[in-house]
Amino acid sequence: MSNENQTIHEFDLNIIYDYFGKTERQGPGSPEVTLKALSFIDGLTAESKIADIGCGTGGQTMVLAQNTASEIIGVDLFPEFIQQFNQNTQKLNLQDKVKGVTGDMKNLPFKEGELDLIWSEGAIYNIGFERGLSKWRKFLKTGGYIAVTENTWFTQERPTEIEDFWQEAYPEIDTISSKVTQMEKAGYLPVATFVVPESCWTDYYEVQHPQMQESLLEKYKGNKSAEDFIAYQRYEAELYHKYKEYYGYVFYIGKRIK
Ligand code: SAH
Repeated sequence: MSNENQTIHEFDLNIIYDYFGKTERQGPGSPEVTLKALSFIDGLTAESKIADIGCGTGGQTMVLAQNTASEIIGVDLFPEFIQQFNQNTQKLNLQDKVKGVTGDMKNLPFKEGELDLIWSEGAIYNIGFERGLSKWRKFLKTGGYIAVTENTWFTQERPTEIEDFWQEAYPEIDTISSKVTQMEKAGYLPVATFVVPESCWTDYYEVQHPQMQESLLEKYKGNKSAEDFIAYQRYEAELYHKYKEYYGYVFYIGKRIK
């Protein structure tokens, strides 16, 4: 990577942090949804170890921490998110059992068989659903669980506009039945799937209100990356409102049985 590219890359990260760093969550989800997914997982104790991959600033991690006795390690590529994550653990007095570390989901800092639960909300798409499920499996104990959300088609056929948008943005998007098959093929027992409610998406787009977008555009005035980024966020939100019966996040919970 040339220096020029590095500078552009760093600058883009700053834009993303300015945009998402202040919000409680960086993807669609809610405490209720996290707790519902957690209800399918047995056997967690104070000795168990949980990893939250692509944890962001820790919206869902703090909910897990307040509802389990286990140790939790949050991993995110973005140091600024981890810094905010660790401040949040302090604020909630959870620092003894929850720790955020900077790391890459493509090269996780865990030992084989070390984890009882792998959690990942709105983040596995960064490695890809199938690849993430199969690469992360070895870190789980036999009997351990994985719980992830993934963007999923709700119908066999879709209008071209939305089909084209997601084929471009995330070609791995597929139906629930295909994703469940992929989970089986990756070596998990599919324990449960449920659709994340629409309100999680509308809230997610709501917090990115026009005022927040305008102030970012003001700060990065004349910067093409910032303008493109905001235009893309707006278009994605617009498409969601138009086509929300065709796709959304689904929680997939699987168990490593051997
Ligand atoms: N789980 C959080 C954040 C979801 S946004 C929530 O639901 O609110 C996706 C997160 O994945 C971002 O925080 C982003 O920084 C992180 N991410 C992207 N690529 C990553 C990678 N290769 N390794 C680890 N984290 C990554």
